[in-house]
Amino acid sequence: MKEGIHPDYKPTTIRCACGAVYETASTKENISVEICSKCHPFFTGKQKLVDTGGRVDRFKRRFNLDK
Ligand SMILES: [Zn+2]
Repeated sequence: MKEGIHPDYKPTTIRCACGAVYETASTKENISVEICSKCHPFFTGKQKLVDTGGRVDRFKRRFNLDK
């Protein structure tokens, strides 16, 4: 990584209200979020949604409904 090209990224901890902690790098330090990939309803319902989504995709592809 060359200096001067990127903004000043620092090691950062993102804390979610659900207790999840993520280590990342950002120009901001110690970020707090109220919702994350672990507690967002979309992700907590992941198993079901992924399965359903896969079926819908296959259905669309089979009948060319994607276009
Ligand atoms: Zn969370």
